[in-house]
Amino acid sequence: MRKAGKVVAEMHEATRAAIRPGITTLELNEVAAEVLAKRGARSNFLNYHGFPAVICTSPNDMIVHGIPGTYKLKEGDIISIDCGAIIEGYHGDAAYTAGVGQISDVAQRLIDVTERSLWAGIDQLVIGNRLHEVGRAVQNVAEAAGFSVVREYVGHAIGTAMHESPQVPNYWPGTPGPTLKEGMVFAIEPMVNVGSYDTYELDDGWSVVTRDGQLSAHFEHTIAVTDNGPEVFTIS
Ligand code: MG
Ligand code: MG
Repeated sequence: MRKAGKVVAEMHEATRAAIRPGITTLELNEVAAEVLAKRGARSNFLNYHGFPAVICTSPNDMIVHGIPGTYKLKEGDIISIDCGAIIEGYHGDAAYTAGVGQISDVAQRLIDVTERSLWAGIDQLVIGNRLHEVGRAVQNVAEAAGFSVVREYVGHAIGTAMHESPQVPNYWPGTPGPTLKEGMVFAIEPMVNVGSYDTYELDDGWSVVTRDGQLSAHFEHTIAVTDNGPEVFTIS
């Protein structure tokens, strides 16, 4: 999983470096696909329930699961990019949101707060803690900033499949959840909205957008619970 995580981190670096006004989301997909090919990794996104690409690209009010295509990034956009890779049967999964050129103050604040909420959640991944403390920590950071946390899509355990049980809510679900043990691995992935947390799925059967049309950001890492504290696999 460390190896798969490194490939995902490289997909982040390569796509981030390619983001500019005028590039299409399909071109970003090609950049990510080149990294997979170079590292001998397989895609866990391609053909997942029929998904047609190796990354998800979700601009502006799109929360997650956007399909790369002809959309051209433009100055002032924000773009969420979710990447995954399989090495030797083990999965990595991580996402980030970036601005395109100069972005609004609220867009920048949304990106910063969402990333900070992810790290607050990661800090909770310690042996003996209860899993849903992750969601409580994420929610506290997001809501203190005046934003909302998406309820309908959540994080997950990950290993030899991308999506394993249990789920990892990004909010306090009312119960503490399982006790964390050494060797458990989770993908924590807060989706944070400027407005309400209500979501809406487009007719393509994939793209999920905010119901109120306001901006959304998404950050994700794959992290192991170790006797040394949380170990983030999806950073270089
Ligand atoms: Mg992901
Ligand atoms: Mg995930």
